[in-house]
Amino acid sequence: MVIDFHTHTFPDKMAEKTIAHLEKIGGIPAHTDGKRGSLLESMKKYGVDRSVVLPVATLPKQERSINTLSAELNGRDGIFYAGGIHPDCEDVCGTLDFIKQSGLFGIKLHPDYQGVHFDDPRYINIMREAAKRDLYIVTHAGIDVGFRSHVHCTPDMILNVLGELEGVIDNKLILAHMGSYEMPSEVLCKLCGKPVYMDTAAVLDLYPEKCVEIIRKHGADRILFATDSPWKPQGDYLRIFEELELSDGEKEKILAKNAERILSL
Ligand SMILES: [Zn+2]
Repeated sequence: MVIDFHTHTFPDKMAEKTIAHLEKIGGIPAHTDGKRGSLLESMKKYGVDRSVVLPVATLPKQERSINTLSAELNGRDGIFYAGGIHPDCEDVCGTLDFIKQSGLFGIKLHPDYQGVHFDDPRYINIMREAAKRDLYIVTHAGIDVGFRSHVHCTPDMILNVLGELEGVIDNKLILAHMGSYEMPSEVLCKLCGKPVYMDTAAVLDLYPEKCVEIIRKHGADRILFATDSPWKPQGDYLRIFEELELSDGEKEKILAKNAERILSL
């Protein structure tokens, strides 16, 4: 069983434009055209059994359409969806209730694309309310290739949030990109051992040895295999992951067992 916990797709009618825009600001070419059908093709081709799509609400007015679509498609063809919520959401409780009632496992936050620091009181409120509803919170963490000059979610901000919400979001927070993109040394000294999950999205090919070091220090029980497709290819990522110096038991947890627990499979 292989679960890719971090992917992106866009509705067919806007995929081409969105991918072109993101390719331009991030300076990274996409490996698929960003459509759901192409993710499915990639999964079949490389033996990925399930994928998790993480949509981002870049404006409050997008929440309703994102969450309605996520609710409609969730679980179909092995693709699961997070809900989207914006820090300026007008009805945090109502939006989170809808996400929970729709059977989605959690929400996705993106501090760079939502223009808010991760330890902002608006995010803290959203995370507190999400955790109350037993929803997971996935956040982009570390540098974003589209916004290199200003990092909106640093390891220190993550520590602030963990301090503020101590005992409230334990093991509910999922930090993308192995804790913080392109900041593995800070992750090692500040975040390893904290009650958070980390995913391998977009960094596994950049610094595989550092990833192993982080996994060893943090523990394989709270690491999730993830690619960030279409920005990284699922086939290459699986190959790189298989070559990591980890035990079969650790690989099994990271590839599927941990994600199955989160997705209640
Ligand atoms: Zn991503």
